[in-house]
Parts: sequence; C-alpha cells; structure tokens
Amino acid sequence: MFRRSQTPGRTADQLLLMRRAGLLVGQTLEMLRGEVRPGVSTLALDALAEDFIRSHGGIPNFQLVPGYAHTLCTSVNDEVVHGIPSSSRVLHEGDLVSVDCGAELEGWNGDAAFSAVVGGSDAARPEDLRLIDLTEDALWAGITALVVGGRLYAVGESVEASIESAGAADGREYGIIEEYVGHTIGRSMHEDPQIPNYAVRDKGPTVRAGFTGAIEPMVTLGSPSTRVLADDWTVATTDGSRAAHWEHSVAVTEAGLTVLTAVDGGAARLGDAYVALD
Ligand code: MG
Ligand code: MG
Repeated sequence: MFRRSQTPGRTADQLLLMRRAGLLVGQTLEMLRGEVRPGVSTLALDALAEDFIRSHGGIPNFQLVPGYAHTLCTSVNDEVVHGIPSSSRVLHEGDLVSVDCGAELEGWNGDAAFSAVVGGSDAARPEDLRLIDLTEDALWAGITALVVGGRLYAVGESVEASIESAGAADGREYGIIEEYVGHTIGRSMHEDPQIPNYAVRDKGPTVRAGFTGAIEPMVTLGSPSTRVLADDWTVATTDGSRAAHWEHSVAVTEAGLTVLTAVDGGAARLGDAYVALD
C-alpha cells in the first residue's frame, strides 16, 4: 500500500504565531502602498519597510537569503520578480511596480507581494490595470482551492484557469510564469513542498490541517519567457512585456482559510471560506 505524501501542518498555537508574522508583512505592504509615488526610489521604499519591520520586533527575512541584503524585492515594468532596490531606480508615473516583502517574527515567517501603477489608475495604461487585477484574481482563485484533505496542486490549476478565463474574455493570451513558484512557509520563508502557480499533471501532496503556504502567481502581457539580468537577481521578461506579481501566505484549517498576510485575514475576499484564527 502506498501512503500518499502529505504537506506539513502547524498546531493551533503555531498558526497564531504565523498570523502575527503575516500581519506584520501585511501592515508593511499597506504602509508601502501609500509611499509608491512618482519620484520615490525603490531603495527609499526598502528603507521604510526595514524600519517598519524592525520597529515592530521583526527581522526582514529576505536578508536571511544568502547574498541578498535588502528587505524588499521591487520589480518595475518588464521586471517580474527579485528586482533589487536601488537609489538610482526612481519610480515614474505610469510605471508598474511589484513590491515583495517578507518578515520573520518570533521565529515564524510571512511573505506577500502586490503590484500597482505609480500615480494610480489615472496614470495607468488600461492593459496594466487589467493585468494587475487578473493576477490578483488568480491569487485568490488559487487560495480558495486550498482545503484540508484536498491536493496541493489544485492551487495551480485554479490559478491557471482564472488567468485563461481572463484571457478568453479579453481575446488575448497572458503569459503565466512557470520558472518561479510558490512554496510552503513556516520556520523558514522557503520550505518544501513547492506550489506551482500553473496546472501540472501531478496532483501533489494531500493538504494537511494547519498547512501554511505562499501562493504567488506572476503573469505577463506577453511571453512567459524570462531571463536573469546582469545583477544576478532581477528576473525580467525576454520580450520586454510588463509583468504583475501578487502573493499571500495562507493557513488552511478544518474550519476554513485565513490569509495570514492580509490585514483583514482575507475576510473580504474569501466570504464563507474565511475563518478567524483567534
Ligand atoms: Mg515573496
Ligand atoms: Mg514567496
């Protein structure tokens, strides 16, 4: 008899600690949303994020990744993920920026990201706003595919179906990044098993009660093909098309879902699937 593999699961007490770490990340990103404006450098955003996390007792966990010295990844326009904050990277009206942030608090980790247009929707190309919205919708579609006893890779199936239905409605094909994936999160930011943001043949391990994962679709207006820039970190599209990236860390319990890195725990978007941890 084969016993199907299962994801890890956390205890109720551990989930409360993960909520504290996730909430710190969510609050940091909320703060940064108000700071993304024309003329700000991505390094200035990084400094604000580091101050915020440390002043609340946390550690910027991206700095625990060997070789990475910053609190955020800031990826602009054709950059998809892992953009390095820089004083020379000043944001301009109409730029599409993705801000990815993580923190460790009391030994537990959170990881989340949002995309936005600098200067708001008035400054945006309509296709950029659409890309941002459909990527966020795909994130929530992936989150709601998580259920105790279900299979982990249902997440990627839902993410991909959501993006494809948006593409069908728009009469175009969006690029779904496959080279970078979501992951289990807990004592470390990146734990196994990984979580593809696209449909795969395998259905993956069974989701155990208390599972905590980071779901993070990345979508482009063109090809899904990417390259790593000369800084050895920044991932950009090969065709120069713009990309969006959204991420949340999520807890799955028998009673439902809590989005650990959402300030409201996911209540507004999850409806009946939402459950408070405390
Ligand atoms: Mg992240
Ligand atoms: Mg992540």
